[in-house]
Amino acid sequence: MTRSVLVTGGNRGIGLAIAKAFADAGDKVAVTYRTGEPPAGFFGVRCDVTDTASVERAVAEVAAQQGPVQVLVNNAGITKDGLFLGMDEEEFVSVVDTNFLGAMRVTKAVVPDMVKARWGRIIFIGSAVGMWGSPGITNYASSKSALVGLARSLAWELGKRNITVNIVTPGVIETELIAHVGDQARAHAMGNTAMRRPGRLEELPPAVQFLASEGASYVTGAMLPVSGGAAMGH
Ligand code: NDP
Repeated sequence: MTRSVLVTGGNRGIGLAIAKAFADAGDKVAVTYRTGEPPAGFFGVRCDVTDTASVERAVAEVAAQQGPVQVLVNNAGITKDGLFLGMDEEEFVSVVDTNFLGAMRVTKAVVPDMVKARWGRIIFIGSAVGMWGSPGITNYASSKSALVGLARSLAWELGKRNITVNIVTPGVIETELIAHVGDQARAHAMGNTAMRRPGRLEELPPAVQFLASEGASYVTGAMLPVSGGAAMGH
């Protein structure tokens, strides 16, 4: 397949693993990067998902380079953990602005071309804790559960245009995002994970690729956990 794929936050971590998987399968893959340099071998566009003009510019650059985006993976995300009582408004709002509104901005920029093409795949990277909740992450969990409402409402709006909208909800995956998480919190998370271990980076992309595939043409509004059983049933 040689579809035009865009992965936000594709310069490292989960996003880069997803981008590599699509590229290995033969797709044209663009990644956004906010800081540093784009990863070697990918068309990289600088983009801050909290800035609408930056998002629109990036999506236009991708369309000019490899054609309108057909598969969008909304992956960019941040954490700013802390207990709610001590969390200031900026710490709450900035996480929601990046993880939720950022994904909304990129989606808004690519949907018109998908509607024209009457085909598209939109995949949000949510989180198991979006449905489950956990102390110290009211901002992050809120941003991730909000994606569910966005994705499922969009699935209704775009279904008859042959555009599917789904959410992958990872559990704990070893990346820089969770480097700050202490031993006690890790032990707690593993105690709530049926497989009793964190996920490996390579265990996530196949779920995303499935949702982007022709084989998933009748799957929309779904939440697919890749969590080793954490938050199962939510
Ligand atoms: P990383 O911290 O390794 O990577 C985060 C990525 O998001 C980076 O590419 C970063 O770009 C990008 N990013 C952050 N803020 C912005 C912004 N304002 N504009 C554009 N890009 C931005 O995290 P992971 O790979 O672990 O996480 C990827 C996704 O998976 C996130 O949505 C996260 O919430 C989700 N997730 C991760 C889990 C885990 O255990 N790791 C569990 C559940 C969900 P830059 O390098 O420029 O900062």
